[in-house]
Amino acid sequence: MARVYNFSAGPAVLPEEVLEKCAGEMLDYAGCGTSVMEMSHRSSVFKGIIEGAEARLRSLMSIPDNYKVIFTQGGDSLLFSTVFMNLATNGKADYVITGNWAKKAFQEAQILGDAQAVASSADKNFSYIPDCSDLPIREDASYLYICENNTIYGTKFPELPNTKGHVLVADQSSMFLSEPVDVSRYGLIHAGVQKNVGPAGVQIVIVREDLIPDDLPGVPTMLRLKTQADAGSLYNTPNCWGIYVCGLVFEWIERMGGLAAMGERNAEKAAVLYDFLDESKLFSSTVDPSCRSLMNVPFVTGNEDLDAVFVKDAAKAGLVNLKGHRSVGGMRASIYNAMPREGVEALVAFMKEFELAHRA
Ligand SMILES: *Cc1c(COP(=O)(O)O)cnc(C)c1O
Repeated sequence: MARVYNFSAGPAVLPEEVLEKCAGEMLDYAGCGTSVMEMSHRSSVFKGIIEGAEARLRSLMSIPDNYKVIFTQGGDSLLFSTVFMNLATNGKADYVITGNWAKKAFQEAQILGDAQAVASSADKNFSYIPDCSDLPIREDASYLYICENNTIYGTKFPELPNTKGHVLVADQSSMFLSEPVDVSRYGLIHAGVQKNVGPAGVQIVIVREDLIPDDLPGVPTMLRLKTQADAGSLYNTPNCWGIYVCGLVFEWIERMGGLAAMGERNAEKAAVLYDFLDESKLFSSTVDPSCRSLMNVPFVTGNEDLDAVFVKDAAKAGLVNLKGHRSVGGMRASIYNAMPREGVEALVAFMKEFELAHRA
């Protein structure tokens, strides 16, 4: 059976080496005679897996010692609430609205307390990142929230906002581990791993220790960051299999040369596609060039019927999951870490042929 080039936005492509390793260890992990799916999360073998994964992540991202790493569950969408309940100590927080996920985080915060939008790019269907150099952040807002890479619209913050001394919280789901980031500039980073790092069902939270509240009256135990931070993510049964696969992906990124090498490779890969989009007479990018994502690349022909033909024909050629999100239309190629450069080159070659065949 042949593998295809999978441009899905998530759950998404994983490194083949990692999938092969999983397959090889499926029935017998490291000589213990069971798969990772069948072992106790309290066993010393699993302790090794989760501690190893955390250590690798800390080293990859150079996470400072005063930050906790938490592997959690419930969906990245649950973290929209968790973040507000834990970090908005006075019930107030400010949000930059750059797409659906930022908006959803903002709406969850509005359910729970006083959330205010301090900037938005809704006026141009989220095709750009607003100027964040002088935001009207409220003096007493507990944090400023951003979705740093917008999976659906294909934008990424070209630089972090001026938080004016406030704590910065970022949803990094669709850019997590795609390039180096300076963790010390954030109070909290959260990410669902199904975009760039692993199978669906695990989220990673990186949070500065002093922001984790000791006492949270009225907040359920499972929604307090302190619960999992104190328990090493083992307060209850975690997604053992998912964490194991994440650990293998971290190991793969190390072998690829770490985040600096990953970032360079991703920039080169994205340039193959953007360079073509900029010169094409048929296809065009929907995003302001100053804030293009290296991970999610939406594009259109300008003709919806032709877009549909493209998506169908591409799938026949082994280039799958290219249909754009309904709020942008057209196509979207998600080219995460595990998408090889050859996959992007194959896509561009196919686009060139399609253009020759369909240009009036
Ligand atoms: C996919 C995605 C989410 C939602 O993740 P779930 O785990 O499905 O809740 C949130 N934020 C961003 C940026 C995403 O890409």
